[in-house]
Amino acid sequence: MTLSIEKCPKCNGQGKIRYRFWMSEIIVYNLILLKAKYPLHELDWSMYVISIKCPLCDGDGIFDWVKKAMKNNIDKNQRKISGNMDIYWQKAVNTWPLSNNTHTWFLCSDSNLYKNPINVINCSQKRYRGVKLNKNVLTMGVRQLEELHNKIINYYKSMNDMQNNLITRKIVIKELQLLELNDYLPDKFCYPNKDDYISYY
Ligand SMILES: [Zn+2]
Repeated sequence: MTLSIEKCPKCNGQGKIRYRFWMSEIIVYNLILLKAKYPLHELDWSMYVISIKCPLCDGDGIFDWVKKAMKNNIDKNQRKISGNMDIYWQKAVNTWPLSNNTHTWFLCSDSNLYKNPINVINCSQKRYRGVKLNKNVLTMGVRQLEELHNKIINYYKSMNDMQNNLITRKIVIKELQLLELNDYLPDKFCYPNKDDYISYY
C-alpha cells in the first residue's frame, strides 16, 4: 500500500501563511530621508511580514490522509488578501499574545526597493497600513511629505483611541477624510477570518 503524501494546498507546502505589507508613514518618512541624501542602509525598514502557522498541515507542509480525515472544518484554499490592513491589525493582530507559537509578525529589510522608489510605492499598494500611496508622492517636496507624514501619524493616533472591535471601513474612511487624506483613501480592506485568530487553534 502506498500512502499518498501531498503538498499542503493551503500554504503550498510552506507550513506558513505569510502576508507582506508596507507601512505608509515609514515610506513617506524614507522619501524625506532620500531627499536629504541618506544612504539606503540608513532608511527605516518599511515592510512587515505576518506569519501564521498553517492550520491545515500544522506547519509541516504535508497534507496526508490523517489530516484529510481530521481537518474537514478547515478551508483548503490559499486565501488572498489585499488592500488596507488596519482593520485586520486592530481586530486580529492586536489580540495575539506576544509569546505564542502560531501567529507572529516582524519587520523586514526592504532598503533595496528604494533604489528605485516607484518599486516601494507599487509594492505598498498591494497591502499596506495607513494610506494608499500613489506615485504622485514621488514628486512632492520635503514640506509636503512632512505634512503627509504628520497626517498619517494623526490618523494612527485616532485609530489607537478606538476600541479594536468597533472599527469598521466606514470609520476608517471618515477618519482619513477628516484629516484631508482624500487622495489616499483605501479602495479595499483586509478582514480577518478564523485562521487569523489564535483562539481558533
Ligand atoms: Zn499547510
